[in-house]
Amino acid sequence: MHYHQYYQTDVINGPGTRATLFVSGCEHQCRGCYNQSTWNPCSGHLFDDAMVQTIIDDLNDTRIKRRGLSLSGGDPLFPGNLSAILALVKRVKTDCPGKDIWLWTGYTLDQLSVEQQEVVDLVNVVVDGKFEQALADPSLLFRGSSNQVIHYLR
Ligand code: SF4
Repeated sequence: MHYHQYYQTDVINGPGTRATLFVSGCEHQCRGCYNQSTWNPCSGHLFDDAMVQTIIDDLNDTRIKRRGLSLSGGDPLFPGNLSAILALVKRVKTDCPGKDIWLWTGYTLDQLSVEQQEVVDLVNVVVDGKFEQALADPSLLFRGSSNQVIHYLR
């Protein structure tokens, strides 16, 4: 997997103070996408073991208390990202007790493959659905268009 941006401290993408990862790779091609440079799964930087450890360390940093991890993109559930994302969410669940995970995806929950569902089963909140330009509303919290749904799963 590759990623475009990692924000060690973020107060925009999800509730509270968070760490946020924008991965590469997306096949949805939404009109009006704000992040087209992430569509190519080979763009950006290699997401390696050192990056995983950086995220774990940031989530456990007691100097800046973070509520959890936000996963966006691109699409964290892009098929080529699934093995790395699954390993990452498992590490967070094991090594960062009490931290929540939010995940943004262009797939809707009823479209998920078994492998995608395996990731979703480990995250707390999913914001799902493609960005629909006709339904765009800048006043919406944590989503770009009104068709997208915030699912508080656990
Ligand atoms: S799912 Fe997100 S990143 Fe992918 S095309 Fe749609 S708006 Fe862009």
